[in-house]
Amino acid sequence: MVPTSPSGPDRVAVPARLSDARRARGLVVPYITLSHRDPARPVWGMLDPARAHRALWGKRCQICGEPLTDRVVVFIRSIDYLRGLAIEPGSHPECGHYSRRACPMLAGQQHHYHANPAVRFARCDDPVCECRYWQPREADPREPARDGRPAEAWYEAWLDLADYQVIEDPGNQTTAPAVGIALSRIRFLRLRKIRDTAVPETDRRREALDQLIAAKTLLGF
Ligand SMILES: [Zn+2]
Ligand SMILES: [Zn+2]
Repeated sequence: MVPTSPSGPDRVAVPARLSDARRARGLVVPYITLSHRDPARPVWGMLDPARAHRALWGKRCQICGEPLTDRVVVFIRSIDYLRGLAIEPGSHPECGHYSRRACPMLAGQQHHYHANPAVRFARCDDPVCECRYWQPREADPREPARDGRPAEAWYEAWLDLADYQVIEDPGNQTTAPAVGIALSRIRFLRLRKIRDTAVPETDRRREALDQLIAAKTLLGF
């Protein structure tokens, strides 16, 4: 789903670092986003596993695919912070800035996660496109299903590249295994909320990251 209103993400200025990036309908397609061979046909919201792996372990930006530099932006939810692991690769500050404005989920324009991902695996007409090998990933039964769920609150955190460390959490009886960037005992150079949750107020839990922001403000660290 890509909004196309005049104030929508297609009007977001593209930083110089992303001038050569793949685009679809004017929007930069993140390096880790799955796409048909035709770069103008990305599958929004789906990861290309090989690219995501290369970005995470190779300390590359998830938007432009180039090596990260001294400051790394990660987009996280309270659940990621509590687990101590950011599940998506980081990005350059300027690429993250673009993403925050252009991505409907991060910009707060999308209120629910996409429903029914199988539909989005539809094949294209290009006979040499690899989409015929795509398989919807089998969800781990311990993993909370995202499809169609209300959006969570998202936060932007800045890390020093020296603190960027990929870790593997083997999971346990109630939590599925995951790989990501370590967040425990990491000093956030910046931390701010970028969108509120779409969960109805009555069902909301206290956001651990709101509490952290409040503590940082109060104590000035
Ligand atoms: Zn295809
Ligand atoms: Zn980048």
